[in-house]
Amino acid sequence: MKLLVTGCCGFIGSNFVYYYLEKHKEAQIIGLDKLTYAGNLDNLSKLSDDQKKRFEFVRGDINNGELIEYLIEKYDIDVIVNFAAESHVDRSIYNPREFLETNVLGVQTLLDVVRKKWNKNGKWIEGKKFIQISTDEVYGTLGPSGKFTEKTPISPRSPYSASKASADLLVLAYHETYGMPVNITRCSNNYGPYQFPEKLIPLMILNALEHKNLPIYGDGRQIRDWIHVLDHCRAIDLVIEKGKVGEVYNVGADNEWENIKIVRKIIEILREFTKDEEINENLIKHVKDRPGHDRRYAIDSTKIQHELGWKPEITFEKGLRDTIKWYLDNKEWIEKIRSGEYRDWYEKHYVSE
Ligand code: NAD
Repeated sequence: MKLLVTGCCGFIGSNFVYYYLEKHKEAQIIGLDKLTYAGNLDNLSKLSDDQKKRFEFVRGDINNGELIEYLIEKYDIDVIVNFAAESHVDRSIYNPREFLETNVLGVQTLLDVVRKKWNKNGKWIEGKKFIQISTDEVYGTLGPSGKFTEKTPISPRSPYSASKASADLLVLAYHETYGMPVNITRCSNNYGPYQFPEKLIPLMILNALEHKNLPIYGDGRQIRDWIHVLDHCRAIDLVIEKGKVGEVYNVGADNEWENIKIVRKIIEILREFTKDEEINENLIKHVKDRPGHDRRYAIDSTKIQHELGWKPEITFEKGLRDTIKWYLDNKEWIEKIRSGEYRDWYEKHYVSE
């Protein structure tokens, strides 16, 4: 199997590359990434010698149709897994346009190239598939009860989720209109190694280690449904292998947490690991809430569990401890990431306001 994995140097994309090459010993992956501030080639520096032989990196943009066409043809790609995206809600509030360029137009570019390369005289070549990695955020926000199913109407509330929802609609439209073999996965909040430090869990770990404020939006009682990134990767693998063409699959681990409780949990684990008394709840600082902040997400993943036999394997307790340990053990990675563009952005938006 030959995969084109776009956004391979981001958080989930890089975890997926490791996971897939380890699990499928014959598989070959062409990884494409534009290397934005969130993309980091270092994320793939731990590939084994065998994995390196089966992985090739290409720096490029999913909006570059000619390049995508060239790669599909040169490597005779079977499956495209599209992780490439602008992914941070806060950034989408400050600069929506970039989000539309990559998350909408980039996906349309991929779809048009796929249509050109994989459809011959009106017939789709057997065994090819386009997988769009989407998010539960396309469904909007929930009240205190209920969960998102695949039938929940799409109702995005941030420029980020609106761009992801638009891409989902395009992907489904290409399936309906042209019969394109596609699947969409909509997963809840991921955590794990290699996550960029602007996202909640790594941000809190890294700030706490430096005794910096732990900024919490509003009352901190927003609820997110957390899943370990490797459980997400296993779900994507199953969707590639067995997902029914044209279907959407929700992915979530039934693990709802208020943001503030996660932060307290991180403090507790960090204190245990480091014995540092200065890591304590006095570091928590409530800041002005994000505009349009979704209150609660919760994912019903019955469909993927019943139809594809997926279920989450990593408990939050273990996954979070392992993740914190990973950040403690990878200080060099963190230092590189936290310099430059990220530091400027963080200081502008979280420190100077
Ligand atoms: P990320 O921001 O860590 O990684 C995105 C990657 O895409 C980066 O390596 C970046 O350089 C690359 N990229 C951006 N624009 C590009 C372009 N135009 N062409 C090629 N590469 C480009 O994001 P992530 O957290 O790994 O998320 C990956 C995907 O999963 C996204 O589509 C996101 O919407 C989705 N998702 C994320 C989560 C989560 O909790 N992180 C949950 C559900 C779904």
